[in-house]
Amino acid sequence: MMLEDIDRVLLTEDEIQQRVAELGEQLSQDYAGKDLVIVCILKGALHFMADLTRKISIPVDMDFMAISSYGASTKSSGEVRILQDLDAAIANRHVLIVEDIVDSGLTLKYLVDNLSSRRPASLKIATLLDKPARRVVPISPDYNGFLIPDEFVVGYGLDYAEKYRNLPFIGILKPEVYSK
Ligand code: 5GP
Repeated sequence: MMLEDIDRVLLTEDEIQQRVAELGEQLSQDYAGKDLVIVCILKGALHFMADLTRKISIPVDMDFMAISSYGASTKSSGEVRILQDLDAAIANRHVLIVEDIVDSGLTLKYLVDNLSSRRPASLKIATLLDKPARRVVPISPDYNGFLIPDEFVVGYGLDYAEKYRNLPFIGILKPEVYSK
């Protein structure tokens, strides 16, 4: 059972939905009148993307990028591999990266460098979660749902070994689950 592996709930379904709605309103104001492409970073940002875009009241294009980090599964190595690239070009368009969580910042740094080289009109970052305590590169999201402590979380898109993504809340995994 998935629930037995959860130590405690950090963010409830209601808390997430309320904050996501606020972010959607903010983005609708900030990007009004602009040609916006929202880039979802798969797989972790899937649920955030789906809920966030439904709270945005201006027209948006959606595109998807699948990446994978090498190395241990609870830590990012900074080496990023593109598994699936964007469908469309982003030159001269306003691009918003939608990510699940910023931890060391290495993944986002890679994405920002990669997408910047394609000459978008602007490039910003929206992340659901931010763990500032673990940052190794100076990068901060333009839009953030929640600041969270340095604990390994799962649910609402976030996995451990591809499991727990379908939990509707964000929870802290029992350490014995990943130290097994
Ligand atoms: P970074 O490169 O910033 O260290 O890590 C970013 C990626 O690592 C995230 O997109 C996410 O896939 C993964 N990650 C970082 N912290 C967590 C966490 O607490 N839980 C889960 N499930 N994944 C995390």
